[in-house]
Amino acid sequence: MKLRTLVAMICLALLGLQARAGGVAPHHMIAAANPYAVKAGLDILRQGGSAVDAAIAAEMVLTLVEPESSGLGGGAFLVLWDPAKKVLTSFDGREAAPASATPGMFLDAAGQPRKHFDAVPGGLSVGVPGLVAMLELAHKKYGRLPWATLFEPAIALADKGVPVSHKLATELRRYPQIAAMPDVKRMFTRPDGALVAEGDVLKNPELANALRRIANGGAQAFYTGPIAQAIVDKVQHAPKNPGGMTLADLANYRAVERKPVCGLYRARRICSMGPPSSGGISVLQILAMLQRFPESKLQPNTLSEVHLFSQASRLAFADRMTYMGDPAFVRVPVRALLATRYLRKRSLLIDPTRDMGEAMPGALPFHFAPQPPHELHGTSHMSIVDDRGEVVAMTATVEFILGAETTADGFFLNNELTDFSFVPTRDGQPVANAPAPGKRPLSAMAPTIAFDQKGHFLIALGSPGGPAIIPYVAESLVAMIDGHLYPQAAAALAHHVEMNGPLFLEKDTTLDALAQQLSAMGYDVRPASNEMSGLNIVEWTKEGYVGGSDPRRDGVALGD
Ligand code: GLU
Repeated sequence: MKLRTLVAMICLALLGLQARAGGVAPHHMIAAANPYAVKAGLDILRQGGSAVDAAIAAEMVLTLVEPESSGLGGGAFLVLWDPAKKVLTSFDGREAAPASATPGMFLDAAGQPRKHFDAVPGGLSVGVPGLVAMLELAHKKYGRLPWATLFEPAIALADKGVPVSHKLATELRRYPQIAAMPDVKRMFTRPDGALVAEGDVLKNPELANALRRIANGGAQAFYTGPIAQAIVDKVQHAPKNPGGMTLADLANYRAVERKPVCGLYRARRICSMGPPSSGGISVLQILAMLQRFPESKLQPNTLSEVHLFSQASRLAFADRMTYMGDPAFVRVPVRALLATRYLRKRSLLIDPTRDMGEAMPGALPFHFAPQPPHELHGTSHMSIVDDRGEVVAMTATVEFILGAETTADGFFLNNELTDFSFVPTRDGQPVANAPAPGKRPLSAMAPTIAFDQKGHFLIALGSPGGPAIIPYVAESLVAMIDGHLYPQAAAALAHHVEMNGPLFLEKDTTLDALAQQLSAMGYDVRPASNEMSGLNIVEWTKEGYVGGSDPRRDGVALGD
């Protein structure tokens, strides 16, 4: 048994949880990125809480135990299915640019795009956090337990202290430049000056206080008053890259309820997050373009599957880089991008025997230039089903590891604005995802729910991974639908990632054996040693819910 699996099992046993790896839960289930968050969500489900209630409790704990990925200082998208009312909806808690943002905010004095990592730390990259407003909006409509109750587990843990996770300890060592930032150092250095290690118990009284304020005062206590003031102070006075966020920016933030985007794959209805995320549209495009190929050609990690999937992915990424941005600023041609005829035509560009090379975007009436690629990863996904069959798929983010590497009141501020295109115009044409005041940067997050022919819930899933979220989610769906894999096997499946550039094959996996043949087909094959997916999946089966959690992270799926 791997040391990591053993540590996870001991951790679960200490928490009093019975891991049901591969088990079936007839009543409810939660799959999320950390056992403490899963326990908090499961306790809420056991008290009769809704899937939204459980998501809030779990996310507050993630702010404490997985600060490198998501939390109060970031944003999120939540897709929800309410079987009683037959309502499918989604909530947009994406961060927004402050009023002081300008199209050229990430250009240097010579008008050239700044180095990505140089623009991340500090205040300039911080978007107005959207998570708390979004969770409050979802709770008003779909909460069952009182708002304040949902904060209790995180407050208790922040007061008592929790052990540093394997993932956080690893990330701090992988990125020494992040570990050296003042706020990161203050939070994650032992009294003897050494960096914290896995298992060190950390308390966070500042966060406990902020959580108490929000528990008692609702989202208003986050967007106005002392917490808002702390955020603005940290952004404006950041030692590196100070930003222009004001109290008015925070007070004006609004979460938005939106219609999800849906499409068909082999008679299943797949629904996901629409703009300002590209995630849903791109996942649906990939699946639609694969539909004309038989199931036998799409068996997980076979040569034909890697090839066909990569080609569909190239085509989807070419559209993604050209046609998508915040729908409040750019008219994203959602219908045209998902039209059956358009995608059938695009799919015919796939040659089953060789790589097409760089794909061009489809010809749609839209007057924007493609943005150059550059995104990073620091995100967390959870999937939840409650006793009444209500389903939540939520992906939350602070963008890069520990966001802008700056804290306010014990939580990390996001660097989501670096998800904008640094280049606002190309050859005189605007880029759809250029920065602007109040605008939300394009995301790849794809919290997704799949239904059977009769409209019954089948699968909830999602993942972190920056733009690779799109192939991670689409690959898992293909593996579960065509390859009939269980969620755990789908979450653990070796990744092949083609984003219209090189083809990355997850190193030291069965994919190694395909590298030579794929090179011969024309691909620029590269081994990838750090695929940071974090799939969390719940599937309905006749016996009950079955879950899967990505072995690349610390998560688990548990239910009763
Ligand atoms: N900021 C990215 C996005 O919203 C997500 C980063 C990640 O997945 O790690 O698309």
